[in-house]
Amino acid sequence: MVSQGPCLAIEAGGEKTFSLWRDLFRKIAPSLNIVWWKAPDVDPAAVDYLLVWKPPAGGLTPFSGLKGIICTGAGVDHLLKDPDWPVKVPLIRMGGERTGVLMAEFVLWACLSLFRGARAWAWQQERHIFERELITRVASEVSVGIMGFGSLGRVVAQRLLLNGFRVRGWSRSGRAEPGVEVFAGEEALGAFLGGTDILVNLLPNTPETADRLDRDVFAGLPGAAAVVNVGRGTQLVEADLLAALDSGHLSGAVLDVFRTEPPDPDSPLWVHPRITMTPHAASEASRADHARYVADVIGQLEKGGMPDLAYDFSRGY
Ligand code: NDP
Repeated sequence: MVSQGPCLAIEAGGEKTFSLWRDLFRKIAPSLNIVWWKAPDVDPAAVDYLLVWKPPAGGLTPFSGLKGIICTGAGVDHLLKDPDWPVKVPLIRMGGERTGVLMAEFVLWACLSLFRGARAWAWQQERHIFERELITRVASEVSVGIMGFGSLGRVVAQRLLLNGFRVRGWSRSGRAEPGVEVFAGEEALGAFLGGTDILVNLLPNTPETADRLDRDVFAGLPGAAAVVNVGRGTQLVEADLLAALDSGHLSGAVLDVFRTEPPDPDSPLWVHPRITMTPHAASEASRADHARYVADVIGQLEKGGMPDLAYDFSRGY
């Protein structure tokens, strides 16, 4: 039965997952009219909203009446490579409460792993070595610096604070957050890095953030600091990280995102004794969570509001 509500066409996940989305939306938002974006009986001009992951370049041109496009990814930079992208239509990044909670729990795990030296335990276990280096430091003596202190960074910060860590955040604006020491812009980067024991990268992918985690940033961290990369692989200069780890200036790294995913089979990252690799798994909520978020976003747009995670074309994130 076709609903009378707004029409949401789905590209994300391809045709094979369309029925999964449709069944979820029927339960979560029965007033939405859910269609496969390429269905022959769908007039693209009558579609109000699109849910996309990677539509082909130029593929959105027939959708002339769009009120919003929602991407199933938190980063939308890949979409904007399309020269025909409809920049006047609001573009909303994936979000929702659970995306933040998942990221916060991942970063908490990464920080605990790094300061207790969990990678060394795993390395020893593989070799049947039963030796310990006593670590008596506790979380309240560890300062985590979140580079890119936006929607996810703030949720991560609150979870780290709850678990006793000291937290600082670096962003362009230096927007305040309870319990967090915030730093704004390039001129404050040195002060931010100088007091950071574990650097967590949560920057968005923009021309300014490419190769941002480089030798200069690592040199700005105190000795034995560690790095968590959950932003984008293109933001990390891998050779500089390896050099900083091998020189002993950095004590460890947890990497979730990579320049090439999966990394090349002969990448030195796979076997490095101070690197823990995870397969871009930090935060991906379920399809049902995504559907709830999409329904909420459409509800806000229908009422004339603008969702928090609307992409800002002038800022570039
Ligand atoms: P937001 O856009 O909410 O936050 C981005 C933050 O980065 C803001 O604080 C912003 O500053 C700051 N920033 C942007 N450009 C600069 C710059 N040039 N210099 C200093 N600060 C800058 O993004 P989210 O928190 O939602 O997501 C961050 C990233 O996390 C995503 O882009 C994605 O790449 C990654 N991600 C990774 C996942 C994973 O599973 N590994 C899952 C989800 C997301 P200001 O506050 O002043 O605007």
